[in-house]
Amino acid sequence: MIKEIHSKTILNHVKQPDTYFGLKYNMNLYRGCQHQCIYCDSRSTCYQIENFADIHIKANTIELLEDVLPRKRVRGTIGTGAMNDPYMPIERKINLTGRALEVIARNQFPVHIITKSNLVLRDLETLQEINQVYAAVSFTITTADDDLARKLEPGAPPSSDRFEAMRQLNEAGILTGVTMQPILPFIEDTPENIARLVELAHQNGASYILPWFGMSLREGSRDYYYAKLDQLFPGVKEKYVRRYGEQYICNAPNWGELDEIFQKAVHKYGITTKMPVFTPQKITKQSRQMRLL
Ligand code: SF4
Repeated sequence: MIKEIHSKTILNHVKQPDTYFGLKYNMNLYRGCQHQCIYCDSRSTCYQIENFADIHIKANTIELLEDVLPRKRVRGTIGTGAMNDPYMPIERKINLTGRALEVIARNQFPVHIITKSNLVLRDLETLQEINQVYAAVSFTITTADDDLARKLEPGAPPSSDRFEAMRQLNEAGILTGVTMQPILPFIEDTPENIARLVELAHQNGASYILPWFGMSLREGSRDYYYAKLDQLFPGVKEKYVRRYGEQYICNAPNWGELDEIFQKAVHKYGITTKMPVFTPQKITKQSRQMRLL
């Protein structure tokens, strides 16, 4: 089911200083996600999303952004893509993320996008405009194997399309990298997968890779994931139950080995594991007036 909703707010303040992505604000234009990754943490009961397959569109996004951005006193990075993918298939039709980025560009705010979709290329020109301040796009890629990606992330474009989109954005001057997480224990945690992901990231212009050799599981996300494991990878659920029980953080058993391979590879290619972020700036009356001129 797809339905429109009206939201009271559109930008949430990130309270703690975010050293990872450097975010000052978070923006979710949708609730639910059509990519339907089998491991998605947004299914966790704590988020109170009744049916994650239902898509709620925040229909008043543009009005809210147009109202709030000119009144902000701090220019800081607006992040999107944490709870859902801003470039899920419905976005092709309604262009909500695209229109939101246009408002952000007009107000000269920096942006960081996390996505699994090459649809982001549609907004290249707007991103270049935003990039006069700062624009970064992180592609979540967990496997170098497209067939495996189709099983794990059934609604998202294959990994190869994401790498190709990264290449094009990088060539257009946009900061790009890989959020290489989660790496699913007993499925994606092979030395070959990690080495190949870093190699492909390098070939396609990634400036940074943010890895996690493991995943999180909790009430809501665990049941769904385990049901999918039974369906797609018979026998693997039992390994999880034995090793992790009710644990939230589930690191890959061979974490140390994977990290060693990863560190060697990023060193070889000169890829950083820390993302270059935008430092928030106070917006003074004077800078506001300069912008209007
Ligand atoms: S793209 Fe992200 S938010 Fe969407 S289902 Fe996959 S993990 Fe969840």
